[in-house]
Amino acid sequence: MALRQIRIQGDPVLEKSCRAITEMTPKLQTLIDDMFETMYEANGVGLAAPQVGILKRVVVIDVGDGPICMINPEIIESSGEQTGDEGCLSLPGKAGQVTRPNYVKARFLDEDMEEYEIEGTELLARCICHELEHLDGHMYTEKVVGPLHDVTYEEED
Ligand code: ZN
Repeated sequence: MALRQIRIQGDPVLEKSCRAITEMTPKLQTLIDDMFETMYEANGVGLAAPQVGILKRVVVIDVGDGPICMINPEIIESSGEQTGDEGCLSLPGKAGQVTRPNYVKARFLDEDMEEYEIEGTELLARCICHELEHLDGHMYTEKVVGPLHDVTYEEED
């Protein structure tokens, strides 16, 4: 596994739509492994392939309940509303208020290319919405209400 360079807002790759994945390959498995490593290293809860410069429909998520890899994901149900701070590894040190559904159900392929559905509320719902938008070239900053603010992180030992 290897760390990948996280692309920062302004990089054109973050504004493009990603291609659907048709088969699992060793190269794709390596990408997924690298994305997890890169996300954990950056203390993120989600990462989409375009954030490491790859225009494929794959995201990785871990909101603290274990790793989830979603290939060709789509939201098939959503309800409720939550408003809270949201940030992005492609815009380090910043956050802003975004309103999202409080519940989403998503359908995707897992790493065995088996169809799978997941339900998420609160942070997981927010994270799924955020990551899936990256696959269509969108950043959360398009939905922020009010100004972005600075976030400071504790340095790790
Ligand atoms: Zn993001």
